[in-house]
Amino acid sequence: MNWFPLFCDLRHKTVLLVGGGAVAERKARLLLKAGADVRVCATHFSSPFYEWQQAGKLTLREARFSPEHLDGCWLAIAATDSHEVNQQVSDYASARQMFCNVVDAPAQASAIMPSVVDRSPLMIAISSAGDAPVMARLLREKIEALLPQHLGKVAAWAGALRPRVKSTFNEAGQRRRFWEKLFHHDRLAQTLANGDDKQAEKLTEALFNEPLAQQGEVVLVGAGPGDAGLLTLKGLQQIQQADVVVYDRLVSEEVLELVRRDAERIFVGKRAGYHCVPQEAINQILLEQAGQGKRVVRLKGGDPFIFGRGAEELEALSGSGIPFSVVPGITAASGCSAYSGIPLTHRDYAQSVRLVTGHVQKNGELDWQNLAAERQTLVFYMGLTQAAEIQRQLLAHGMSGGMPVALVENGTSTRQRVVAGQLSELAELATQAQSPSLIIIGRVVALREPLRWF
Ligand code: SAH
Repeated sequence: MNWFPLFCDLRHKTVLLVGGGAVAERKARLLLKAGADVRVCATHFSSPFYEWQQAGKLTLREARFSPEHLDGCWLAIAATDSHEVNQQVSDYASARQMFCNVVDAPAQASAIMPSVVDRSPLMIAISSAGDAPVMARLLREKIEALLPQHLGKVAAWAGALRPRVKSTFNEAGQRRRFWEKLFHHDRLAQTLANGDDKQAEKLTEALFNEPLAQQGEVVLVGAGPGDAGLLTLKGLQQIQQADVVVYDRLVSEEVLELVRRDAERIFVGKRAGYHCVPQEAINQILLEQAGQGKRVVRLKGGDPFIFGRGAEELEALSGSGIPFSVVPGITAASGCSAYSGIPLTHRDYAQSVRLVTGHVQKNGELDWQNLAAERQTLVFYMGLTQAAEIQRQLLAHGMSGGMPVALVENGTSTRQRVVAGQLSELAELATQAQSPSLIIIGRVVALREPLRWF
């Protein structure tokens, strides 16, 4: 270990920053965030420095560096573009046994500043000791993306609870289980993120009162239409924490790759026209698994609340006392639209968009009159087997046979295929497409060629 990692309290401690340009500006921002008394010495200052000075946040010394600037300081940071000046600052600081950071030059420095992911009070610092700063930055971005913004609030909340947890639970194991429950408590995190402390107190009280045996829960997660890059960050966090993942055929292999390796996977495949596992049986699986105290993720293609029967699954859970939540996903219409260059709305051609099921059951006759109206885009889910009927009804209700249509098959995946034509050919086009396919009907379809990028 060449460098000793250390977090230090700089509040109300004087720090000398040498330099007044853009690089020094970044350091000044960090120092101010940490509550340091910042003394800046330089021959020129960029404008933010004057603003900070006016706001009383720091003091400026318009001068070349000289050793007495270090008087009373705890730390020095050399951020000029002159190697010699930086070296001088470093040398004088060392002579006084004071740590000195030299920006981008660890060889000249006695302290280095890491890349940080700040979820105060939680702080993650990453350093490559100057060998691979870009690698450290990329790693920081990855961690940044993985950790929810509200993590800091949860950590601060936990900090305040420590004495109570200590006095409530005698055993270390009990305390660990309590903390695990608290840190996995999604609704508590969300409540804190919303700044609703009253509700957070209620949820915390409930946590103290419930038995420590793990309580199961179900999270409906939208997996998006195929491309794993379209999974939300929240969805990713959920599938990486799950004990069990219940998924169906619409969830892509790519997304399944991201599920925690040792999570149990239950396939309840569904395909157009038939269900491998009836809905009631799926509901039962969710109840049973969560009832055993497991964290169950019900992973669904697209968005769980758009033709995903998500509501039915939640209804089945709602009477059971098992907590549940929903993480939305990118629905096939959005994904297919973006990846095929067909905008769903456009000021000149479509003022509204309608997501319609092509799988109409006996009690769900569609309002064809309205669907055939101009200046809107129709997106039919599960429409492949009904394409001839859709064509017949729309023509019968006055839509032009020349209305552009497109079928997007396996949208957003590497196997995406688009078959385009006009309404009068829809039934024929549908015979060339495989499930899952989306049918898009409207003038916007004609924009596809100029906007295509995928
Ligand atoms: N909840 C899903 C929809 C489920 S219904 C969502 O929000 O996207 C199933 C229908 O969605 C399929 O019949 C098909 O019409 C459409 N679909 C889902 N994924 C698709 C994809 N990758 N490409 C094209 N259509 C898709």
